Amino acid sequence: MSFSPDERGFYGQFGGAYIPEMLYANVEELRLKYLDIINNERFQKEFHRLLKYYVGRPSPLYYAERLSNRYGTHIYLKREDLNHTGSHKINNTIGQILLAKELGKKRIIAETGAGQHGVATATVCALMGMDCVVHMGETDVKRQMPNVLRMKMLGAKVIPSMSGNRTLKDAGNEAIRDWINNPTDTHYLIGSVVGPHPYPDLVAKFQSVISEEIRWQLKEQTGSELPDYVLACIGGGSNAMGAFYHFIDDAAVKLIAVEAAGLGVDSGETAASIARGTDGVIQGARTKLMQNADGQIIEPYSISAGLDYPGIGPAHAYLHSIGRTIVLDATDDEAIKAAFELTRLEGIIPALESAHALAALPKMKFLSSDVVVVNISGRGDKDMETYIKALR
Ligand SMILES: *Cc1c(COP(=O)(O)O)cnc(C)c1O
Repeated sequence: MSFSPDERGFYGQFGGAYIPEMLYANVEELRLKYLDIINNERFQKEFHRLLKYYVGRPSPLYYAERLSNRYGTHIYLKREDLNHTGSHKINNTIGQILLAKELGKKRIIAETGAGQHGVATATVCALMGMDCVVHMGETDVKRQMPNVLRMKMLGAKVIPSMSGNRTLKDAGNEAIRDWINNPTDTHYLIGSVVGPHPYPDLVAKFQSVISEEIRWQLKEQTGSELPDYVLACIGGGSNAMGAFYHFIDDAAVKLIAVEAAGLGVDSGETAASIARGTDGVIQGARTKLMQNADGQIIEPYSISAGLDYPGIGPAHAYLHSIGRTIVLDATDDEAIKAAFELTRLEGIIPALESAHALAALPKMKFLSSDVVVVNISGRGDKDMETYIKALR
């Protein structure tokens, strides 16, 4: 099966490519070539070889017995936290670096907020011997120093963005400017199912390895490929799209996306872009985003840097609009509580982002016979400072 947008990148009314004229040639080259390249047998072989021997896939699907007992059901954890570099992001950067090579590109640019996507990009650039430039807001450079140092050790050049409030949005603008100025030799490596077509589809297809594995791993352990529920946190939406992808046509599987409520969806300090969003264009795609009456983007807030984004991938806006996904939310406090619960019951410290998915468990009603898969998108090492503060 294949969940794909139309030729122009639309999922219903969402998606498309709303880009400045100056970017047209770059995006059009990608649009015309990406499917032929990634569907090529040699490409797929190399992609899966690296996922297996470099990333460490398949990531385990682990039956969490003590967590299951707590909620009176059967809970399986998809362990993306065990991937090389600590999250699902590497699945996409491996795919895109191979694509960039096929396109004959020599230089990779990316934008990053918390630095996780920057690290995953710098990693594959080191692996392939490609030049790597990561744009990062100056504010973020200061507060995410360990990831900045990782990127530098990997050989990437980190360029602090000095405009606006010097965070992710400003880094994104700098990356676009960079791409416009370097149209022939540079690939823009986007880190989630966002941006102009074909990025949302491209990233979804690379991340779909997550649900491809869940199907056979469940079959092996339960006798059936289909769970009753799949839960994932949602920032831009790439780990959720990866975990949902191969279940979209199976109506019996309930797909639950969990947004970051921040201090609460009605608090004004939130990143719940579906709950609080309206239709508009962000980063080149029509989708749901948090904006005021004048169409100005409202600054998002979440304790989790990876979910602190004012929009959502267009495919998620669509799946929600047709009722295929259920969108819940979790506050900062609920996520921290859920992270401690998983840690103390299973000995697994999840990323703060993944903790939002776990925080939906107490809000749901399960049957004792249900099979529930929670995608653990990343590990919590990067969040220890936040967790330790909560311990005090
Ligand atoms: C970046 C990140 C996310 C959020 O990105 P999505 O594209 O929504 O998946 C979630 N979890 C972890 C661990 C991350 O690093």
